[in-house]
Amino acid sequence: MHLYNLKVPSDQVSFEQAVKKGLGQDMGLYFPSEFKPFDNIDTLLEMPFVERSAKVLQQLIGDELSEDVISELVANAFVFPAPLAPVNDHIYCLELFHGPTLAFKDFGARFMAQCLSTLSKGQKITILTATSGDTGAAVAHAFHGIDNIDVVILFPKGKISPLQEKLFSTLGGNIHTVAIESDFDACQHLVKTAFEDKDVREGLHLNSANSINISRLMAQICYYFEAFSQLNKVQRENTIVSVPSGNFGNLTAAMFAKMLGLPIKRFVAATNLNDTVPRFWASGEWKPNATVATMSNAMDVSQPNNWPRIQALFDKGMLNKDILSAVSIDEDYTQLAMRNLANEGYVSEPHAAVAFKALTSQLQDGETGIFLGTAHPAKFRETVENVLGQPIALPEPLVEVADKESLSVPLPNDYQQLKQHLFNIL
Ligand SMILES: *Cc1c(COP(=O)(O)O)cnc(C)c1O
Repeated sequence: MHLYNLKVPSDQVSFEQAVKKGLGQDMGLYFPSEFKPFDNIDTLLEMPFVERSAKVLQQLIGDELSEDVISELVANAFVFPAPLAPVNDHIYCLELFHGPTLAFKDFGARFMAQCLSTLSKGQKITILTATSGDTGAAVAHAFHGIDNIDVVILFPKGKISPLQEKLFSTLGGNIHTVAIESDFDACQHLVKTAFEDKDVREGLHLNSANSINISRLMAQICYYFEAFSQLNKVQRENTIVSVPSGNFGNLTAAMFAKMLGLPIKRFVAATNLNDTVPRFWASGEWKPNATVATMSNAMDVSQPNNWPRIQALFDKGMLNKDILSAVSIDEDYTQLAMRNLANEGYVSEPHAAVAFKALTSQLQDGETGIFLGTAHPAKFRETVENVLGQPIALPEPLVEVADKESLSVPLPNDYQQLKQHLFNIL
């Protein structure tokens, strides 16, 4: 596989380098130099999920990794299903929340962990990351028990729900969690300081495993194929996909799937009140506002870091602009959408509800619509219970951790103490 940096095109890398480096020079994103579309999509769609996913990833990665290695990575990463749940006769939710941390980020994080583990060939790596919730849990579970890789997660003490904290702080082993006595920005600042500190960066072989890593997007391509495999042949020719978007990684993956030949007819970029992209799509002006807090808080992003990859697909003429519509859904309509879905017998949460509402505004007669269910409703239990006025049962992974002891170590917002702690535990 060959990739180039969208900001510095002369910065060109292999798949292995792109996975290990994450970001390129000048903070540029790596982008595949070519997409070879499959010509036998129907045959591909008949295969089982794991086997087909290996074929899709092989098509991108090429001979840099052998077929056997890719098959093994995929089999280890994708150990839970991605079912297409019908809401009515022409609208479906692609449920991506059946993994260990109940959110779609499990797919990308698990595949990235498998890739890093294989590509580092036994060299020691420390993943250092700050989280305000979901990403930390997905990364912690993905790397738990992987040899030679330690994970250190900083989070703001008392600022995330106890259950959310327990999803990543009860694992132990190679997963170390630190409760910083401050807010999320302070955690991010400590991480940044550590990456700038040569002793720590080189001594501990730091890696950020962050959301712009190309391996995450590649994993996410696979579940769009899985969605289409569950449609009949007539539907496959006439289906639009609505993606609840924050940093726009998930939508990038959907577009990459189309570049590989999956016949997605159109895309809907669904955002909450953080509507930089819908405003940009309408006016041509990129004017991020201050981020506002919403019920769909994993999408509270006003400067989406994956957007340059989508922009590149249009700028290079790989996709036509009329294939994308961008819709912002406010808080009232998000609640209304949750109630509409419940009336159809489908209990959902705010992120999926935003995508559902945006989908119904764009769906035309005769078309099939898929919106993405990015998190389990129980992850947003309070909101869901408040809006729908009905109790939500806790799913297995949350029940399991509820009574476990958090293993987090509290530390003040002080870099020297954090550094000391890192050298003590690693
Ligand atoms: C991260 C996240 C999103 C946004 O996905 P992007 O790839 O950043 O656009 C949507 N929903 C949930 C539940 C998430 O955790």
